[in-house]
Amino acid sequence: MSFDSLGLSADILRAVKQEGYDTPTEIQSQAIPAVLAGGDVMASAQTGTGKTAAFTLPMLQRVNDGAELQSKRRIRALVLTPTRELAAQVGKSVTTYGRHMPLRCTEIYGGAPMGKQTAALRRGVDIVVATPGRLIDHMERGNVDLRGVDILVLDEADRMLDMGFKPAIEQIAKALRPHRQTLLFSATFSGAVAGLARRFLDEPQVIES
Ligand code: AMP
Repeated sequence: MSFDSLGLSADILRAVKQEGYDTPTEIQSQAIPAVLAGGDVMASAQTGTGKTAAFTLPMLQRVNDGAELQSKRRIRALVLTPTRELAAQVGKSVTTYGRHMPLRCTEIYGGAPMGKQTAALRRGVDIVVATPGRLIDHMERGNVDLRGVDILVLDEADRMLDMGFKPAIEQIAKALRPHRQTLLFSATFSGAVAGLARRFLDEPQVIES
């Protein structure tokens, strides 16, 4: 299996090659075509399996395809992560893999000044990677419009639930349109994760790697 056969665009393949990746990992070869096809995906994947690229590469491609059709910038993809470290790491991956695309990404997490984040949101971004609590702060201040989000990613969903973010995820999801693509990644598929999936995913393709 090679990256070339997964349906990714030339811009993305170039960035992947620049990272020195030859072969997609198991989770990547399964998740990338599923996400590109537009349906919901629920994937079990540990850290270190290449899970970040598994959702980031096809997400970037779908966001960029949509952006070409409409000129006005709006938040098209939202990635929720349990910790600021993970948000920073995912944001960096989005920037790296999306380096040949005219997309803007910003990271929103607690412990960093609100002002810079607010300014970035006001300038306009295509992709937001956020921890739930700080995103809600921005929502309550009217800094962020999530009504145009086409793709929601719940990264490390089990950890978000362990950390008590269920109500925050519910509140954020209410600000999104129901008709969207939702991707859920989790190291484990516990009962609580299955419950979250039933609540937010529509006939997901289930991938266990
Ligand atoms: P992750 O599981 O997303 O935390 O990724 C783990 C590490 O694997 C990261 O440092 C990535 O840069 C790297 N990586 C992701 N996909 C590939 C790939 N297909 N080939 C080689 N390395 C990869």
